[in-house]
Amino acid sequence: MGLISKLIGIALAAVGFVLLFFGMNDTSTMSYVYSFLGLLVMAIGFALLTAGKPKEEKLPPPTITEIRCNNCDFKEIRDFKKGDYILKTVEEACPKCQTGMTIEGVYMIREEPKKKYNV
Ligand SMILES: [Zn+2]
Repeated sequence: MGLISKLIGIALAAVGFVLLFFGMNDTSTMSYVYSFLGLLVMAIGFALLTAGKPKEEKLPPPTITEIRCNNCDFKEIRDFKKGDYILKTVEEACPKCQTGMTIEGVYMIREEPKKKYNV
């Protein structure tokens, strides 16, 4: 399906280009029809060419994990790891006092990540 639609896309784009070229050189009223048809066919061709591509644009929003030391006020923010959840005890110990640390929050970063830290 992918290769065939690509080939059709290329063929349509080529046909559209020829039609457009033909329409531009033609001085009769039909030139508008050819140009329009050419553009239309080209658009369909390009649409077919790009349709088969895997969707890589939509990445999941970046997620961060906030870890807090159980003993002191040390706080760490790192990238979210699979399996992170709130109140989970992490393997890493606090670099300040070597006490265990707990996940205090998991946040998705959107447009204004600063808002999350106003609490
Ligand atoms: Zn600590």
